[in-house]
Amino acid sequence: MLYEPEGYDARQWPDSYWRASCAPLPPCPELTGLNRADVVIVGAGYAGLNAALQMVEDHDADVIVLDAGQPGWGASGRNGGFCCLGGARLSERAIRRRFGMEAVTEWAGFERDAIARVRENLQRYGIDAQACEDGELLLADSPRAWARMQAGPVPVGARLLDGDTLRSEGLNTGAYLGGLFVPEGFGLHPYAYVTGLARAAIDAGVRLYGDSRAIALHPDATGWRVESTVGLVHARKVLIATNGYSDELLVPWLHRRILPAISNIMVTRPLGREELDTQGWTRRLMAYDKRMLLHYFRLLPDNRLLFGARGGLSFQPASVQAFARRARAEFELVFPAFADAQTEYSWNGLVCLTASLAPYIGQVPGTQGLWLALGWHGNGVAAASEGGRRAAQAMMGDHSAPPAITRRPPPRFALPRKWALGAGMALAGLIDGPMRAV
Ligand SMILES: Cc1cc2nc3c(=O)[nH]c(=O)nc-3n(C[C@H](O)[C@H](O)[C@H](O)COP(=O)(O)OP(=O)(O)OC[C@H]3O[C@@H](n4cnc5c(N)ncnc54)[C@H](O)[C@@H]3O)c2cc1C
Repeated sequence: MLYEPEGYDARQWPDSYWRASCAPLPPCPELTGLNRADVVIVGAGYAGLNAALQMVEDHDADVIVLDAGQPGWGASGRNGGFCCLGGARLSERAIRRRFGMEAVTEWAGFERDAIARVRENLQRYGIDAQACEDGELLLADSPRAWARMQAGPVPVGARLLDGDTLRSEGLNTGAYLGGLFVPEGFGLHPYAYVTGLARAAIDAGVRLYGDSRAIALHPDATGWRVESTVGLVHARKVLIATNGYSDELLVPWLHRRILPAISNIMVTRPLGREELDTQGWTRRLMAYDKRMLLHYFRLLPDNRLLFGARGGLSFQPASVQAFARRARAEFELVFPAFADAQTEYSWNGLVCLTASLAPYIGQVPGTQGLWLALGWHGNGVAAASEGGRRAAQAMMGDHSAPPAITRRPPPRFALPRKWALGAGMALAGLIDGPMRAV
């Protein structure tokens, strides 16, 4: 694991607003004894649970899901709730060059399907995840970023909003000059969504075990023996859906092929109507900026402001507090009228990057029946949901179900990852420059 053990301690829930504002799932039991299943899935987040549901519902498979904590303990229970396009960092040009034009269209279709999948899940399983206003706003924080946004292609259905339009549409901030509105996606309660999936999986017959960390995988003539801290499972196939929380000792092939990165979130007390009007931020749109170390924010249904910021190289308290202070200062710059609204919740978690800049959905090369579905590049609410489904389809024989860009195994990072992350963050800080009030 790349960071200190406290970042991976699945017995401790983060101090997140999501857990505080949603009835928790009754604890799933620990695995005990020796068990058999067709498939074992390691990781009960969006990817693992969607894969499990797909296997049970469409293939009538006997599935066991193991989580080191309880379902949703990982990023799926603690993210910003932006159900949006994304999941890879490859530019359209790079996809075309490496995989051909068809792959560009295919990936764009996957991103849209992924959002539709989440909507369908909410409806099909009767999950109330407090879905918010449709669409997403990308904001420019400098004249150069705004000029680029205006010069760049405007996707079909998208709309450029200058400063005056932002103000007149209830999207006024102290730090952005203009933005691009994209109609796809919506905000949701991430923990309500993941616990809803867990309930649906249990109802569908999936055997879901909590506090059951997989610690070793042993291949044999008929499949895999998965050893956990509490019990054993034998299955023909295994899916590792552990994303940023992956243990490289469990799957040594992953070593240096994934880069877990820290993302931080703070949530304020509920804001009053007058404060919202004074700031001129009254919409519930998902918003993020064009900076390399990006900020993302949205007004929640109970009028709290959620504000997220990338960054951090350690889970040590001093480092976590330093990043929380920085995020708070940036929040006050973006929303000067909310400067008196104290932070009531603050937490962090791990997203997962790869050197190929794309997720990987496929077998561990050189093995039979050991699969991976991970690397959602900070945008996994939708992508991991659909990615988990596609992984299940591939495991059941449809090898072309995952998009082409996700079928190529990621290479190793060339440089030591902490070093690369530190250098990358320093460079990003230089390119971004300090945030300024407009
Ligand atoms: C702070 C933060 C904000 C984010 N905001 C957004 C956002 O707004 N929109 C968006 O699209 N994405 C966002 N993301 C990313 C998104 O949350 C993830 O991409 C997505 O949740 C990944 O889902 P997953 O199922 O692949 O993995 P996870 O949800 O991380 O689940 C992995 C699970 O594996 C378990 N596990 C690990 N090792 C083992 C083991 N050995 N044995 C058993 N279980 C194990 C863990 O306990 C964990 O529950 C954010 C992430 C973070 C951290």
